[in-house]
Amino acid sequence: MGRKYCVRFINSAPEARGSPSAAADASGPERAADSKPGPAAPGQSRQIIRSRFGCAECRNRHVKCDEAFPVCQRCHRRGTVCRPRARPLGWRTEIPWLANPGLNPPWKTRPNGRLLQFWMEIASHILTMSPDHNPLSFPLIPLLAESPSLLHAVQSVSAGYEVFFQQSSLDLCLTERGLALEFVRKELQEHTAGSPISPASVLSVFVLGISASWVETTPTTYGQEHLVAGRIMLDKLLRDEKTRSDPITTFLLGWYLHWDMACSLVASLDGLLPLDPPEMGLTVREMQSSFHPMTGFSTELFYILSRLGRYCRQVCKHPQQRDEILETAFHQQLISWQPKCEAQDHVDLNDAFKYHGLITLGRVCGQASQASLDWTNAPGPTAEVEGEAKLREYTLKCLDATSAVPLESLCTNYLAIPLLTAGSELTSGDLASREKVIVLFRALYSRNRLQVNIWAIELLDELWALRDLGINLSWMELQTQKQWVLQFG
Ligand SMILES: [Zn+2]
Ligand SMILES: [Zn+2]
Repeated sequence: MGRKYCVRFINSAPEARGSPSAAADASGPERAADSKPGPAAPGQSRQIIRSRFGCAECRNRHVKCDEAFPVCQRCHRRGTVCRPRARPLGWRTEIPWLANPGLNPPWKTRPNGRLLQFWMEIASHILTMSPDHNPLSFPLIPLLAESPSLLHAVQSVSAGYEVFFQQSSLDLCLTERGLALEFVRKELQEHTAGSPISPASVLSVFVLGISASWVETTPTTYGQEHLVAGRIMLDKLLRDEKTRSDPITTFLLGWYLHWDMACSLVASLDGLLPLDPPEMGLTVREMQSSFHPMTGFSTELFYILSRLGRYCRQVCKHPQQRDEILETAFHQQLISWQPKCEAQDHVDLNDAFKYHGLITLGRVCGQASQASLDWTNAPGPTAEVEGEAKLREYTLKCLDATSAVPLESLCTNYLAIPLLTAGSELTSGDLASREKVIVLFRALYSRNRLQVNIWAIELLDELWALRDLGINLSWMELQTQKQWVLQFG
């Protein structure tokens, strides 16, 4: 396809601070309206309010923001939620045919250059673990040109991300989402009429699905229709000998496994398709020790956790339908899980998810189940005490692993689930750790701008209040009671 774009550093932007890569993490497109300083409060000098890219909280208080990312020092000290403002990049990618869509590749619809650039340089990075070769960034361009639905889907996320998906300013995001849905219907009709399924359309369904809950004001949806449609389309790609080995199918499978794993903890059972067609297991085994941009080195672990999630949801609903052989198998698979990588952030992420699985299994399936596992053979009060001690050990290990992942690592995009699971086990004696969990959830919000992190804090506050009264619930159970759906996919 030849050279599609080039990167140019901007010399005339003294306000863009830090290294280009740090800026890429931290910033967004410059918006003229945003860079006007607010009115000075009485007694404050101009100097104080001149941080051009400070967070919303500091702007409201008319104080200078140090712009630390993802949480500024003042917000950190105040314990407020930090919403950093979009900051210009220290570099800009120049895409000649984006400025002039008449050039190649031929676009089916005219792209919004600003949103598309923001997607590729910033917004696409909240979804993956791959900082250097993010397939959802520039490599996506040929598919975006080919598929109007995918183009509008990513533009929608880009527009929403810019405003923290806040309802008051979501217009552009929702308009783009509406267009994406309209086009995806058309593309699927073309497929039903006989043309082969396009990976670009499958990607659109995925982007629309994972972002379905991002535009909601309450945690009540996980984009079920997209999850089911995405899965049916993926199965078609996996069943076809020709498309099965295509890198894009492998990419979609890894993405699906993470999405499904996250939904398996919240979805109603009839909303999920079973996870064991032979093609899927086979491909997962082929992928098991290689790096995947959407699952890192955790593809197989997510696959196990998806099945565990389904099982635990079933036990929540029908406690009499327990299967102790299956529980033992889950326990053994998880306890013997070893991360197949050397990068420390990925090792920590693997550990965090491993202990999340063990805690979920132990808490949801209860003490009788633990008695059937390896630490004791005799159910009864002793087993219960030992079971709780084991859960405590997993909780601390899960929390350690979660907190060990540096905030700069893209692995943080995946931390919310283990953080919530470990956090929900903390007791009234763990006040400092509870506070640490809240601080980390706030930082995750400042980083990926998804409201689900704030809802997780609300759920934790309720879980802790119950726990302090002697009622031990898993977050899975409490959110079901509240009819909440926390979608971390
Ligand atoms: Zn600030
Ligand atoms: Zn702040």
